[in-house]
Amino acid sequence: MDLYEHQARELFERHGILVPRAEVTDSPKEAREIARRLGGRVVVKAQVKTGGRGKAGGVKLAADPAAAELTARQILGMDIKGHTVGKVMLAQPVDIESEFYVSYVLDRAAGRFLAIASAEGGMEIEEVAAGRPEAVARIPVDPAEGLTSARATEIADAAGLPPQTVDVLVRLWEVLVREDALLVEVNPLVRTRQGQILALDGKVTLDDNARFRQARWGAGETGYDGALEAAAAAKGLNYVKLDGEVGVIGNGAGLVMSTLDVVDGCGARPANFLDIGGGASAQVMADGLSVVLSDPDVKSVFVNVFGGITACDAVADGIVRALETVRLTKPLVVRLDGNNAARGRAVLEEHAHPLVQQVTTMDGAAARAAELATTA
Ligand code: GDP
Ligand code: MN
Repeated sequence: MDLYEHQARELFERHGILVPRAEVTDSPKEAREIARRLGGRVVVKAQVKTGGRGKAGGVKLAADPAAAELTARQILGMDIKGHTVGKVMLAQPVDIESEFYVSYVLDRAAGRFLAIASAEGGMEIEEVAAGRPEAVARIPVDPAEGLTSARATEIADAAGLPPQTVDVLVRLWEVLVREDALLVEVNPLVRTRQGQILALDGKVTLDDNARFRQARWGAGETGYDGALEAAAAAKGLNYVKLDGEVGVIGNGAGLVMSTLDVVDGCGARPANFLDIGGGASAQVMADGLSVVLSDPDVKSVFVNVFGGITACDAVADGIVRALETVRLTKPLVVRLDGNNAARGRAVLEEHAHPLVQQVTTMDGAAARAAELATTA
């Protein structure tokens, strides 16, 4: 699960890494108030789970509270690489002397973490890494050994970072380990003209498998992804939030996984994995539909069922009865095949719903759902 910058910032702060004072809002009016509290001049930053915000116009300096309101109004609702900006963070501006890059990322192949660091951080880091790889230090870190301060010094030296960054490297490792992250990245880590080392931007990916031991991961830290998954878990559903726009519901994990692939092959991206299992009762179908429909990213829903022990007419019944309790707000494409498919299809036809359409093949139905999602 990826965190927003403001959430990453909180984790850094919790582990003693200096960050600029900042507050988050979804309202331009409140942005003005926040700017006033922060001293007038602020940096207004789009909160989206993607990089390159600066280049996309999602990071702007505002000279006073009135400008902060105007800038927040411009940035809120902006589309950055397919992500709609729902919130902005307003941060106290920092007098930057130099920008560095540091990250720890899991290297699955090597069974270790990799520390990546460069004295040439900032918005051009990709170009630096591609054009002059020697300017980017890559040092393996053994997870069992952890990050000793000797190893942190080695990383700072290899990258040409000033000695004050060693302490930050150690604390950042604490963030990775204590918070169960798979990735922590600070770009830029800056040295201010006053000589302080500050994390100006952060990217953190938490390891979803650690949820059971991270009681702290409330809705605040996880955003609505976590809220959806929590709602699904409370209903006993096998649901995983993904980052696409086609909601997927199917019976059987294997079928659902191949459904994700087929949706992807049709040029759209699945919004979730949801296996309703063998029973597919009206209740389970209603629970599943309500979770999938409450995902704001979902533009269409694809229900893909292969009738086995549970016959298609029973599943169709479940869908019809679910639609009596769940208000359908997005188009639903249903593919029924297998045991009693013809009777199942007839049931859905009898209860013609304006937003429900049937397609008999998996490929055809996926293509239809993808088309509805991408033209919506
Ligand atoms: P990204 O483009 O999504 O990585 O967004 P960043 O938060 O990294 O911001 C992009 C760039 O904006 C940084 O590399 C900085 O050069 C600049 N920037 C961000 N915050 C500040 C700030 O407080 N003061 C100044 N002077 N520049 C900033
Ligand atoms: Mn950045």
